[in-house]
Amino acid sequence: MAETTATPKVHRTDAEWKELLTPEQYRITRQHGTERAFTGPYWDSFETGLYRCVGCNAPLFRSDTKFDAGCGWPSYFEPVSPDAVTEHRDTTYGMVRTEIRCGTCEAHLGHVFPDGPPPTGLRYCINGHSMVFEPGK
Ligand SMILES: [Zn+2]
Repeated sequence: MAETTATPKVHRTDAEWKELLTPEQYRITRQHGTERAFTGPYWDSFETGLYRCVGCNAPLFRSDTKFDAGCGWPSYFEPVSPDAVTEHRDTTYGMVRTEIRCGTCEAHLGHVFPDGPPPTGLRYCINGHSMVFEPGK
């Protein structure tokens, strides 16, 4: 597969994001929201394909790195490439967590936790509303 994340960084104004995204997508990706567990898309989907950023279409995760974490959100053990996502320290809600954003448009995606399966031991816990699924790759 010849996917690459070497695309230009995407910047849009707040008004542009509001026009582009549904209210739920906007709340999650631009205002660091979280969908309720078991309510968003993809948490129970295991079709073969590619998950892309809802904001800029950059490839984020492949279905063959997805696993059932039982948490109600789509979970992956690794992004498509190291620069597909960026990590940010998040100390909200009295916890120290690592926030994950799209490496291209900085959409808030979810968090990464050190309790995932091999080979990485990581669990990227991602809001389904922050992604669009492209079947068949
Ligand atoms: Zn993006």
